[in-house]
Amino acid sequence: MSYDFNNIFARILRQEIPCNKVFEDEKVLAFHDINPKAPLHILIIPKGSYINFHDFHTQASADEITHFYAKIPEIAASQGVLDSGYRLISNCGLNGGQEVPHYHVHLLGGGKLGAMVGNV
Ligand code: AMP
Repeated sequence: MSYDFNNIFARILRQEIPCNKVFEDEKVLAFHDINPKAPLHILIIPKGSYINFHDFHTQASADEITHFYAKIPEIAASQGVLDSGYRLISNCGLNGGQEVPHYHVHLLGGGKLGAMVGNV
């Protein structure tokens, strides 16, 4: 499977469509999910062209990977969910329920979250 440069997050990165931005630097972008599943629902994405968790961890440099995960707790703190808690989810591939084929981590919080996994 090769990276689809027309996926919606690639288009957001190229600023062809807008997003509700929370954080940006040279390697990472975070923005509010358009269809939030919790009071706080942010998507955190690397700017590099990686399809999913597996692709990111097998293809990205150690620096990209370290930088990406260093930003997640900073973003969580900036959203005020450190004390109340939060959940990170990354859907990978068909059975993982991934809809957008650009690697992303969901940051969910702002209220008590439900069961970790829905019905199979
Ligand atoms: P996943 O199912 O893990 O691939 O999650 C994709 C997420 O992207 C879903 O939660 C969608 O609501 C969200 N999404 C799709 N299009 C947009 C968009 N234009 N802006 C923000 N979030 C989006």
